[in-house]
Amino acid sequence: MPQLITLAIICIIFAAGSIWLSRWLKERSGVPDGDVVYDDAGSWYEVAQPLFSKELMLAGKPDYVVAGENGILIPVEFKSTKAPKKPYPGHVMQLAAYCALVESHFGQRPSHGIIRYDDRSFNIDYTRRLEHELHAILEEMRFDLEEDEVPRNHDAWQRCNGCGFKDVCAESLV
Ligand code: SF4
Repeated sequence: MPQLITLAIICIIFAAGSIWLSRWLKERSGVPDGDVVYDDAGSWYEVAQPLFSKELMLAGKPDYVVAGENGILIPVEFKSTKAPKKPYPGHVMQLAAYCALVESHFGQRPSHGIIRYDDRSFNIDYTRRLEHELHAILEEMRFDLEEDEVPRNHDAWQRCNGCGFKDVCAESLV
């Protein structure tokens, strides 16, 4: 009997420890509380499919989509770098695209999304203004796709260095 009690105590301590550890890991990861309804890593039995918007002809895979308080859907995007003073515009636009994809896929407009840098998170409101900016950029990109030559829009050699077109691109910085 004493062994059973000891075993029961060990099980309770182990269970409590597991719960604490998973909460700690979740907090550290920056994923908000709620059910994860989309995980771009998929699971052991299923590969995650990209979210797709027929209207925008856009596809993408947010790192996570979490159903937060009241079931509000929140896309979460992780960046492995340290946080800048404010999120980079490209990251904000990427998150806006995920908000649009979540709206199209789940039929529910997110109020905001989260960019999680290595050491800090930013909540980004998915406003009508941000949505319009996203549409304008997508329009511009579609226009550029029709062009024979498109001028480079950055001065970062690092981006060219990691680009698959650097050997054939006339605008390449490397
Ligand atoms: S190599 Fe050309 S396409 Fe690639 S990032 Fe640089 S400018 Fe852009």
